[in-house]
Order: sequence, then structure tokens, then C-alpha cells
Amino acid sequence: MIFRNPAGAPELGCDECGCRWFDRHTMSCYECGAAIGDEDIRRFDEEITRFHRDRGIVVNDSGNS
Ligand SMILES: [Zn+2]
Repeated sequence: MIFRNPAGAPELGCDECGCRWFDRHTMSCYECGAAIGDEDIRRFDEEITRFHRDRGIVVNDSGNS
């Protein structure tokens, strides 16, 4: 699931337990171990990209080809 923090930025959250801490290497929840779905990851990427663009935030992204 995708939350909004008080600043309006999207945050990725676990579907199972609602926590927001993930192992970035395996994309699984630290609390319960549930995997984060590809769809959620894609939506989160879209939302954070839009959030940054709307606010004029430039992210250092060397992986953008
Ligand atoms: Zn969890």
C-alpha cells in the first residue's frame, strides 16, 4: 500500500502489517517478511516521481537512461 507522509510525499507500506520499513535488497517487509508487489513498487515510483516534479525537486538518478 502507499501512504502519504505529512509533507504529502508518498511512502511505501506493507500490505500485511502496515509498517514502512523494507529490506531494499529483497523488497520485503522487515516486520513480517511479506514481499512488496511489483505493482505497488511501480505505483510508488510513479507517485514519488510526480511528487518530486511537482515540487521542482531534482533527484540525483544515475540509473536514468
Ligand atoms: Zn509487514
